[in-house]
Amino acid sequence: MEHEKRDHALLSASGANRWLACPPSAKLEEQFPDTTSDAAREGTLAHELAELKVRNYFYTTDFGKRKLNAAVKKLQKEDLWQDEMMGYTDQYLDYIRVVAMADRIQGTAEIEKRVDFGRWAPGGFGTADCLLLKGNQLHVIDFKYGKGVPVSAEENPQMMLYALGARDMYGILYHFDEFHLHIIQPRIDNVSEWTCTEEELLEFGSYVKERSALAIDGAGEFCPGESQCRFCRAKAVCRARAEENVRLAFSQDKGKLPPLISSEDAGRYLSLGEDVKKWLEDLKEWALGECLAGRPVLGWKAVEGRGSRDWIDMDAAFGKLAKSGLAEEAVLWEKKPLTLAQVEKLLGKKDFQDAVGEFVVKNPGKPALVKESDKSEAITNKVTAAEAFAEGGES
Ligand code: SF4
Repeated sequence: MEHEKRDHALLSASGANRWLACPPSAKLEEQFPDTTSDAAREGTLAHELAELKVRNYFYTTDFGKRKLNAAVKKLQKEDLWQDEMMGYTDQYLDYIRVVAMADRIQGTAEIEKRVDFGRWAPGGFGTADCLLLKGNQLHVIDFKYGKGVPVSAEENPQMMLYALGARDMYGILYHFDEFHLHIIQPRIDNVSEWTCTEEELLEFGSYVKERSALAIDGAGEFCPGESQCRFCRAKAVCRARAEENVRLAFSQDKGKLPPLISSEDAGRYLSLGEDVKKWLEDLKEWALGECLAGRPVLGWKAVEGRGSRDWIDMDAAFGKLAKSGLAEEAVLWEKKPLTLAQVEKLLGKKDFQDAVGEFVVKNPGKPALVKESDKSEAITNKVTAAEAFAEGGES
């Protein structure tokens, strides 16, 4: 099925992180159009390619090499196609192969399967990228093409809803007591796996029932927070989010406090202020749209930004300059090498590594501040005892 034409449930699995945390957001969002972006369409295209490869792997008789190649060729004509999608979807397929072959348990694969979890969240359904049914194990495998934030499988509500739905759908044939959730996000080398028991899954199901009852009625408390507001369609004009961010930005601690903040205070302010910056950006984008549409926003207006100049006919202009004596090739054109990332994109990750990997050196990046939960190793400028001795030599 074409991925872009799918229906979306009010209580969707992909939006579960939001409506579970902030139940009234489900109804509030309905007032806003469901827009898409190039990044989302690119993700959809990569998912279509991934689906073809997985289908070819598990169902070779029905969907053999020839059909696969013809379908891939069709996708390659899409304007957002990028050759690197081939490598990233191969990584996803390789991962699935390993899971499918592990434990020597024969199983069944369901690809791009619509999963109904309406028993837990009324009208709720979603599409699982890949389900592997292996005896007492259910594997839910999700391909993520985004390269922003690494997504964790641990207690991931979207994945747990797929697991609940699949448990209901296949309950007659299988008795699962191990639920394995996997996320493969190859563009940022993120692979996350988490396992839960049936008891833990059902406990989550009870929580979903409670929250979804509120969400369906547009009831419950609005609960602003960085992760649930990030993809909410009401995020720019939601009052709860606005008030929360104003509170976070301007509220004062009471009582007599030292004139300088401590490192604990700094850490706390950084965490509290995380959504403030994003909220102001969302609000500005919305207000600009309003002003451009002729709907005034008190105290603000849209103006034309700094423009840029461009040639009407560059060939004619260069031709004229060449006639006047400028050596066109030597002076008017500059020869620039592609960046390393551009060459890698051109060849694909694997071919790039095979062809010129030996010429690549990794320079350390500029230090960046991230949350403690980030997987990257912490660094300091502090000289270690070993380094100090090495520098001091034997004198
Ligand atoms: S913006 Fe945030 S607080 Fe407001 S409805 Fe959406 S998720 Fe809830």
